[in-house]
Amino acid sequence: MDVKALQRQLRDFAAARDWQPYHTPKNLAMALMVEAAELLELFQWLTPEESRSLTIDVADKERVADEIADVLLYLLQLADHTGVDLEQAVLAKLAKNARKHPVAGGREYK
Ligand SMILES: [Mg+2]
Repeated sequence: MDVKALQRQLRDFAAARDWQPYHTPKNLAMALMVEAAELLELFQWLTPEESRSLTIDVADKERVADEIADVLLYLLQLADHTGVDLEQAVLAKLAKNARKHPVAGGREYK
């Protein structure tokens, strides 16, 4: 997945529709949370077992995939519009998490 190419594609998509004025960091963060809620709604009230099997059915799996994609698309746009290098931020956060939560026995995260 080429993150920067996807971000360019999203900017072009928005520009072609004159949506740039609406793509402020605040609005993108809000849209991200709305999409996360739509994803959550698919799992709402399911038992743990039902949630694990939700994606067995093709139509259900497509709905889950659509919402996961919506979340990622807004996350990509939010990172783009806030100047956050997503790949760098993810790698830095993984390293921070490894330092914060060391493996029992002292193995190092690489
Ligand atoms: Mg959605």
